[in-house]
Amino acid sequence: MDALPPISGRVAVFSGAGVPHELRTAPLPALQRGELLVRNDFATLCGSDLHTYSGRRHERCPTILGHEVVGTLAARGPHAPERDVRGAPLRVGDRITWAVFANDPDDPRSRRGMPQKAENLFKYGHERLTADSGFHGGFGEFTVLRRHSHVARVADHVPDEAAAMINCAIATAAGALRLAGDLSQGRVLVLGAGALGLAVAAQAHAAGAAHIAVVDPSPSRCERALPFGAACARTAVDPEQRYEVAIDCSGAPAAMRAGLRALEVGGTAVWVGAVLPQPPVPVDAEQVVRRLLTIRGLHNYDTGDLVRAVQFTEAHHRTYPFAELVQVRFPLADLDAAFAHALATGPWRVGVALREPD
Ligand SMILES: [Zn+2]
Repeated sequence: MDALPPISGRVAVFSGAGVPHELRTAPLPALQRGELLVRNDFATLCGSDLHTYSGRRHERCPTILGHEVVGTLAARGPHAPERDVRGAPLRVGDRITWAVFANDPDDPRSRRGMPQKAENLFKYGHERLTADSGFHGGFGEFTVLRRHSHVARVADHVPDEAAAMINCAIATAAGALRLAGDLSQGRVLVLGAGALGLAVAAQAHAAGAAHIAVVDPSPSRCERALPFGAACARTAVDPEQRYEVAIDCSGAPAAMRAGLRALEVGGTAVWVGAVLPQPPVPVDAEQVVRRLLTIRGLHNYDTGDLVRAVQFTEAHHRTYPFAELVQVRFPLADLDAAFAHALATGPWRVGVALREPD
């Protein structure tokens, strides 16, 4: 006989920059049509969580932050999906990840392959807490997954630390490589060696790129890129080298300019890192025209990218050491200490253990 479903759970409520999280126990809502209840197991602090926490990015408050998270399916609402995005059966007890957004599949942008830009999008870890909507962030014991969420099972052999990164850094990197086109035998320049840049380098390597160079101003970050498939890691772009693809994960205007200059004729620049307001990037239009360059932007990812991210992580987490990017973990009750540690030391990721030991 199945255990009784849980009736309440703790969440860390964020009310604005400079205000400590409030740990609150709230009753779990009755699941509505199409909804799933997830017991969150492990989360990682993403860069956007840090931006919000420190006030560089504004979120409607109060809210529950956290969207890089992996959990266990705990209960199913009426007419909840029977299968995940790969077509595998979804059962209570399955380990799952989910896209950071839930979208109306009939929205025109969803139909045009941009589900992450559909009207009335619901974004986990980014929504305001209301009387009838809670449990929608990773920094809590549960998440209620709404109808039209994109859910993927994750194999048990993937460590929590790597599995948590699938639905933001790794899936976004999969999207960037989709926009970059065929990488086999191509030369790829990755700008920025944070978790996103390392995820891009590793997936480019797994896709058969001939040469991957990672550039980051920090020597220690550069060094970390080598086990993620980089053939060379430097603190500045080598002016002698040319690349078919330059993917910016840094969001720094100077890096985006340097990436454009380093492109081979017919090359493609993919810009992923620029998610905060910043000075414009000067673009030499004549060079774009004469050298047949393409510039593409990406925010978040689509369902296919999530599928590729799960497949990549399951197949390659032992080759590329994603789990080692999380060197310290905190319990949910110490979430502010986790943020303070991340802001003070700038690690790739800080982990938050969400499941109380049985
Ligand atoms: Zn994120």
